[in-house]
Amino acid sequence: MKKLIVANWKMNPETIADARSLLSRSLAAASKNKSIDFLAAVPAPFLADAVFKKRAKYLAGQNVSWGQNGALTGEFSAKMLYSLGVKYAIVGHSERREYFFENEEIIAKKIRSCFEAGIRPILCLGESTAIRRKGLDLVKIYLKDQLRQIIAGIEHSFIPKIIFVYEPVWAVGAEEPDDPESSAELISHMKSTLNEFFGVPKSKVLYGGSVDSSNIREILAKKPVDGALVGRASIDPAELTKLVKNAKI
Ligand code: PEP
Repeated sequence: MKKLIVANWKMNPETIADARSLLSRSLAAASKNKSIDFLAAVPAPFLADAVFKKRAKYLAGQNVSWGQNGALTGEFSAKMLYSLGVKYAIVGHSERREYFFENEEIIAKKIRSCFEAGIRPILCLGESTAIRRKGLDLVKIYLKDQLRQIIAGIEHSFIPKIIFVYEPVWAVGAEEPDDPESSAELISHMKSTLNEFFGVPKSKVLYGGSVDSSNIREILAKKPVDGALVGRASIDPAELTKLVKNAKI
């Protein structure tokens, strides 16, 4: 199966001209590696641009509201994304949790709004430094708990459509990714939890946190890892080009 690379541009670049250029360079680079699928999660204002709309199948929102319409100033809905031809949205990113106080309850509501609109959520989960310091067994308990809190109450048929991302909070925007052995073990554990508690035998789980062109190969070489969510390395076209080239296993 092809591995999936999701580029998370965060709040970059600053202009539509730069965004168009980054998108075309990214898609050109990604199209040369037939062993990957590629999505770019771009800032919401760019999604409605004519150049972006033509490439909507390669795009994802970086967020979505828990509501579909109404008095939610500043928000945008899953239905709005869908109406632009966008089929994916990141939900529960650690930066949304930290700066916008999103918790498991809000994230579960956002997943439900994606379900209503036909959007596939790219759901980020992961532990803090404090939990990781206590060891992998505790991290496993924490991840199981996060999954159960978010997924319980989601329509069963929708769970296989969710793309999960194991993204340890301490590895996002850091110097080094998690040790690939440990993340592969934790991703396997997430997959078993999804099977054991929700009867979903095959889930897609990516790794996220300080992935770049120098470490992507080793990360993707681990069998349970179905792809990567890439932040900083995705907004530098030269680095992204190297990264997708190296994403061959
Ligand atoms: C991210 O934004 O999800 C991320 C993993 O960022 P970075 O690759 O920069 O650590």
